[in-house]
Amino acid sequence: MTTQLDGAVPVAEATDRLVAVARATTPGAAHAHHLNAAGAALPSAAVLETVLDHLRLEARIGGYEAAEAARPRAEQAYGLAGRLIGGRAEDVAFTESATVAWHRAIDGLRLGPGDRVVATSSTYVSSALHLFELRRRYGVVVEVIGTDETGAVDLDALRAALRTPAALVTAAHVPTSSGLIEPAAAIGELARAAGVPYLLDATQSLGQLPVDVTEIGCAMLVGTGRKFLRGPRGTGLLWVDPVLGAELRPPAPDVRGAKWTADDEYGLVPGARRFETWEHSHALRLGLTAALEELHATGVEATHRHIAALGDQLRDALAAVPGVRVVDPPAAGGGIVTFVRDGEAPARTARALRVAGLHVVSVPAAHGQWDLGRRGLPGVVRASVHVYNDSDDIAALADALSPRGGARSVVAAAVPGERPVSAPALLSEHVDTIVIGAGVHGSSAAWQLAARGDRVLHLEQFEAGHGRGSSHGPTRMIRRAYPSPVWDELVDRAYQAWTALEAESGRALVTRTGGLYARPAGGAGGLRGPNCTVVDAARAAEIFPGLALGEEYVAVHDPDAGVIDAAGALAALAELGRGYGVRRHDGTPALDWAPDGDGVVVRTPHGALRAARLVVCAGPWTGSLIPAFADVLRVIRIVNIHVGSSVTSTLAPPALGSFSVDVPDVGLLYGIPAIGGRAVKIGLDLGPDDDPADVPGPVTETERATLRALAARFLPTADGGVVEDLACRYTMAPNNRFAVGPLPETPQVLVAAACSGHGFKFGPAIGAALADLAYGLPRPDLDFLDPARMLGR
Ligand SMILES: Cc1cc2nc3c(=O)[nH]c(=O)nc-3n(C[C@H](O)[C@H](O)[C@H](O)COP(=O)(O)OP(=O)(O)OC[C@H]3O[C@@H](n4cnc5c(N)ncnc54)[C@H](O)[C@@H]3O)c2cc1C
Repeated sequence: MTTQLDGAVPVAEATDRLVAVARATTPGAAHAHHLNAAGAALPSAAVLETVLDHLRLEARIGGYEAAEAARPRAEQAYGLAGRLIGGRAEDVAFTESATVAWHRAIDGLRLGPGDRVVATSSTYVSSALHLFELRRRYGVVVEVIGTDETGAVDLDALRAALRTPAALVTAAHVPTSSGLIEPAAAIGELARAAGVPYLLDATQSLGQLPVDVTEIGCAMLVGTGRKFLRGPRGTGLLWVDPVLGAELRPPAPDVRGAKWTADDEYGLVPGARRFETWEHSHALRLGLTAALEELHATGVEATHRHIAALGDQLRDALAAVPGVRVVDPPAAGGGIVTFVRDGEAPARTARALRVAGLHVVSVPAAHGQWDLGRRGLPGVVRASVHVYNDSDDIAALADALSPRGGARSVVAAAVPGERPVSAPALLSEHVDTIVIGAGVHGSSAAWQLAARGDRVLHLEQFEAGHGRGSSHGPTRMIRRAYPSPVWDELVDRAYQAWTALEAESGRALVTRTGGLYARPAGGAGGLRGPNCTVVDAARAAEIFPGLALGEEYVAVHDPDAGVIDAAGALAALAELGRGYGVRRHDGTPALDWAPDGDGVVVRTPHGALRAARLVVCAGPWTGSLIPAFADVLRVIRIVNIHVGSSVTSTLAPPALGSFSVDVPDVGLLYGIPAIGGRAVKIGLDLGPDDDPADVPGPVTETERATLRALAARFLPTADGGVVEDLACRYTMAPNNRFAVGPLPETPQVLVAAACSGHGFKFGPAIGAALADLAYGLPRPDLDFLDPARMLGR
């Protein structure tokens, strides 16, 4: 039975056409099953081009000139947004986000001691945090209204709460943590009856549900551009009822929202623009304009209808999957569905689905304590649909979650040490990039490229955790002290990249211990760097009493130096890569590769693979995979020993940090303090040539004795035995440099031969650099490491 609603076209047919057009004009829709509109929806090609076109215009004629040229179109956004919510253009203001809009609205109310804010349980995390701060700073009273049996706000409780004077009622139309749809208009009725301003957070409803400020009866409304409006990230809006708006004063007016009229006088501009700031991204604002134009052209009603119908389909499909529980409250609807899979943490489910090409998110209780916390849910998985989604996406999600589905097995196969995925699965992979090598550089590159949307296949010839390359072992040193300023920017980026990796992985990977880098006094060269100072032996002994330098030495003190948890870093990189869908195949060597048109073919024992791009991070095997490097790079054997002590504290921070000593006629001794339950580690920065085809032999007695003698000389309290040792490899390049970038003849092949005994600290930064270069982003700071330069091209 098809109902005739859109003129002559049956609804089903109209919907099919709507989805077909949306998929055809949404570049990301072809990439994965994107079910995260409630996070950030996929923008259309038109929105993308609008943003890029304006950025190009700014680059061509200048930012101010471009803004002037684009003003007529940008101005249309006010009317388009007004039309969408049933408000006037002059009552709309644009901001960087819904949260910023929320802050400006509520701060404009100038709440004070004892002012009551009545909030629903659906209130968004950042709004609740702001209320807590207003309570702490100004003594504002925050009251949260419970829910009724449907999970929506308990209107009777709200009515009762409003019998006592309140300064504000606030609700999220749809929370971030479930598909609940609050009775926005009923809340409005109660607020109006009580004469209390009502701030509606329509972040999750604008673009998916009908929102009309008059029907709802709110006095302020906030929303974001990136979710169901399908605009760019970094856009938001605020609507303010004109009567209330005339009374509100933004806490920090700027030249956009106010006029400096005389020496000691100023006036606020009329309307909601008083809440805007002058400086903003015009490109993003125009992108939002394009998104609003498209929504109106597509049809607000048709969009709502499709999302609601598909949301119902999704709810039913998930409820039918064994072991999956839809946990939305009864009053849910629309395009957001939350669920859990029995016995699995939501974050793990979401990561597993990502691996299977299904983009959803997990929402922890920390993002909705008044909702998930009160419902006893530690977290949920949230799937959300939009116009570019259809039944295939729903079926793929249900299938992946089903006991026979992909979402469990893929994760299992990708866990280090588990049985690798079968050859047929490998050869059936469609990928953008193949990364060779799972040392610190390859693992960083795989993560970074996948995080930018690449489908990445990651090949490692040995099992995870093997000891045949250069990245194994517990620790590595990080330092700012470097021989020449040409390294400074990359070192800076290295520190930032470790901070980013720690943040994203939730692991502490870098311990700052400070560092001393010693050389004979009067000797040439030596290290230098930001915040680094040269100290004499006496001062060095004060800094690190555990290190005994004779008076003949001076040292560079680097307060930023420290120790990297190398094993933890490799695990974090592998986990993050997996989370972004990297398909890692351990025990799968790349036999060789060849350019193939503008792509590349890589041969493996299981057959040939094709990709648009190849990233070679093969460490000691770089020369065998890229013959041009065979005569340029030299692989040497390096050994480390950990020496026990009767007084470990004398060899641990703060008594000892990272260090090196340039010992005449011996070489560069370097060391890592006793840390993380391990004894002090030392090594020499030199060794015999080594063939990576061979398994590294165990550390010999002679090697141990050499290092022990040096320990006795420079670490007097390292009086214990050798408690641990390790054989490893450096890949030495001329001038201890790296080669990072595209190969001169085949730009679709990128290489990172970044060792020379000091590459680990750069791992995450080099991963990001390779992704930048792969995406055509200019990186002049890497020119000194251009492979062509190392190859003399
Ligand atoms: C003992 C020691 C101490 C060090 N100390 C420091 C320090 O304190 N600070 C610092 O910054 N740096 C230090 N380094 C250097 C640093 O560890 C290396 O520069 C870095 O680990 C190099 O990483 P990589 O990814 O390039 O190479 P690797 O870790 O060797 O990774 C290359 C990977 O590629 C794989 N591979 C190769 N060929 C193929 C193929 N054909 N198919 C599939 N897979 C393949 C290999 O199996 C290997 O896993 C030290 C190195 C050693 C050995």
